[in-house]
Amino acid sequence: MEKRVFGATGMEVPVIGQGTWQMENDDRAGAIRALQVGLDLGMTHIDTAELYGRGRVEESIVSEVIAGRRDEVFLVSKVMPNNATYEGTLKACERSLKHLRTDRLDCYLLHWPGPHPLEDTLRAFEKLVTDGKLRSWGVSNFSVPELEEAVRIAGPGRIACNQVLYHLEERAIEHTVLRWCERANIAVVGYSPFGNGNFPKPQSAKGRVLAEVARAHGASPYQVALRFLVRRPSLFAIPKASREAHARDNAAAATLKLSAQELARIDEAFPLGRDSGDLPVI
Ligand code: NAP
Repeated sequence: MEKRVFGATGMEVPVIGQGTWQMENDDRAGAIRALQVGLDLGMTHIDTAELYGRGRVEESIVSEVIAGRRDEVFLVSKVMPNNATYEGTLKACERSLKHLRTDRLDCYLLHWPGPHPLEDTLRAFEKLVTDGKLRSWGVSNFSVPELEEAVRIAGPGRIACNQVLYHLEERAIEHTVLRWCERANIAVVGYSPFGNGNFPKPQSAKGRVLAEVARAHGASPYQVALRFLVRRPSLFAIPKASREAHARDNAAAATLKLSAQELARIDEAFPLGRDSGDLPVI
């Protein structure tokens, strides 16, 4: 599995990781199996959140997946913005650690900008780092002005990543957020890389472009999409797969090599669109 340095953390993280949103609705044993196979294949970045299944995904799925193999995993969770006061963040982190049956997270994110002062959330993150409960922290769904504010508070080199919506039909981060993060050495983790399951239909014009590129490599259109989405060194993707076959397919995307011409073809089929100034979220 190809790995990349995760922003300013210096930690090496696989380009393709694994999401866990809505897994509480999937067959539990199947989802656990898919995540474990994903780990075996090197997709060791596991993304979860206290929000997912109201703690059930952390507690009854991810904890089971990482049991006995914690050191292999780059484990990420997120605090709910409503909980993100200073004390609330410390408590939320303890709760997640308990649910996950571990003593540390590799990265802890503010799920989206919320009602509490960012100073308080970030102060709690730093305290958790000092206490050895976090190896790093980051943000999610932050626009450029929100990132600027976070860097003003925390100083340079502290924000590990910005986790943002990024798939072929939603490339808005390419207008400003992506380059801004690159300049600040902040990893950009693209969530919902398959549009939360709303993937271009094979019979559509766009779907046919993906299928043609895929066929030339003996790959799947999903792998082609993932490869496009991690085509810059700052980018990571975290597809969610509750089926083993999907996990295998996603992991194999890491070895796919697309030519500049193929990337340009995909770029043309899925145009960036104009800049509305807003950062889209799912
Ligand atoms: P997604 O990864 O865009 O799409 C998941 C869907 O694609 C599922 O239906 C899955 O099916 C299917 N799938 C996965 N691999 C496939 C493959 N190789 N071939 C065909 N189908 C495939 O959805 P997502 O869950 O919205 O996003 C991924 C992760 O990003 C989340 O799980 C979460 O961890 C994170 N996220 C973060 C935020 C945030 O605000 N920070 C927001 C949304 C998501 P099966 O499940 O049946 O295998």
